[in-house]
Parts: sequence; structure tokens; C-alpha cells
Amino acid sequence: MYVALAENWPPAHAWGRRVEWRGGGVCTMERLKADLHTHTADDPHDRLNYSAEMLIDAVAAEGVRVLAITCHELNIYCDYFADYARRRNVLLLPGIEKFIEKKHVLIINPAPEHLSAHTFQEFRALGRRGAVFIAPHPYYPSPSSLMSDFTRNIDLFDAVEYCSLYFKTINPNRWAEAAAKAHGLPMVGTSDTHGLPYDDSTFSWITAEPTVESVLDAIRAGRVEVQTKQRDLRPAARTIKDAIIGSVQDFIPGARAKGAQQ
Ligand SMILES: [Zn+2]
Ligand SMILES: [Zn+2]
Repeated sequence: MYVALAENWPPAHAWGRRVEWRGGGVCTMERLKADLHTHTADDPHDRLNYSAEMLIDAVAAEGVRVLAITCHELNIYCDYFADYARRRNVLLLPGIEKFIEKKHVLIINPAPEHLSAHTFQEFRALGRRGAVFIAPHPYYPSPSSLMSDFTRNIDLFDAVEYCSLYFKTINPNRWAEAAAKAHGLPMVGTSDTHGLPYDDSTFSWITAEPTVESVLDAIRAGRVEVQTKQRDLRPAARTIKDAIIGSVQDFIPGARAKGAQQ
């Protein structure tokens, strides 16, 4: 598994403790279980049958400490959801899965200007503005995957997703890993949840203080480890079916609208 660590890194025994370390200062970082790619019933593009509260309850039960809900074209983050998560010991991050030139891109902590941008050139002109950009499922066989647009726009990305859906013999994450290594980007393991029960077969360990700023800094600095195992066959088959339906709806005009009315 690809793991990238920052230089001057606090030693493992310092994680989560207030101890002095060689890098100086007091280390209050923890090794936080994180999932940065999930969807809920609020998603305007996918018809899902569980609320943000239900997802937060489900991830909290699996020990997830950092969660981003990344609905397509909609950042649902608000004080109410953040408080709801905080009471369950979960740090909620603002997030969205944007369409950029019809390709999916995860933006964690998007600026308001990011929400109305649609081309790689617009995002380049806007800059990061405190957000973290992640390439989700870049080499999966779907029209919404970045494919060659990923390396062509590599300057826009801070991290690459290790997608939860793969098999031993078929694993497009291998190409993502190779590209991440070649360009010095960290990988983040995510669930891309589209259904409950929650499946934590792939997630990230992020070493940071449990604040939005510190978690984003940790991703940029590569203080992220992917933990993954192959998903069980039945939920994997359901995900493949949903992904195919989603891809068809993305690219057949009116299909989403018709689905949403049902
Ligand atoms: Zn996607
Ligand atoms: Zn997604």
C-alpha cells in the first residue's frame, strides 16, 4: 500500500498525546479513521434512501472520526449536520463531488466560487482557496472518470482516491497508485457510499488534530494511509449495478430528471 509521510514527522508514540517531539512543540495529533467520499438522500443526482443523520450514525458506529459527505453538485454541510456529527465524535468536513468538464472531482472544503465553476481552466484560475482536490476513481471504466484528464490537469490535485470497489484480478486502483507515485501525491481510501449498511472495507487513516484545518493540512502533507480489503461480492455487485445506472443517467439528457420525479 502506498504511504507517504511528511518530513519532520512526530513519532508514532506521540500520536494523540501531549508530548514533546523532535520536530518541536506539542503534538496533539491523532490517527483518525476517515472517509472522504460518501453520498446521502440529499444528492440531487442519485436516488438514495438514507439521510445524512443515518450515515453519520452508521460511520460513528464503525469508529470513523472524519467524514465528508460529497453529494454530486451539492455541498450539504451546515451547522446542524456538523453539530450532529460532533455529538457522535465525528468531524464533518464540507464536501462536494463536482462535475468538471463532465468528469467527477472531489472537493473537500470548497470555496463558494468553486461551486459555480465547471471547467479545469476556471478551477485553475480560482486556485485552491483552502480546499483540497481529490481525483476519485480516476481510471475506472466510466465516462465520469477523469482518465487522461487526470494527469493533464495534475496541478489541480492534492490527492488520489483508492476506490473501495475492486477485485484481485481487476483493480483500476493500480493505475491510480502508479500515477500518484509518479506525481508525488498521497492516496486516500474512501467508500463512495451509496447505500447502507455502511461498508468500511476501504478507508483512510489521517494523522492530524481533529479540526477541519489540520485534517486538510495532513492530506496535503501526505499524512494519510489507506486501509483496504476487497469488498464482499454481494454489496460489490449492487455497487456495480448502481454505478452503471448512474453513468447512464449522467449522459442521457433528461434521465436524471425523469428518475427524480418517480
Ligand atoms: Zn464519482
Ligand atoms: Zn461519488
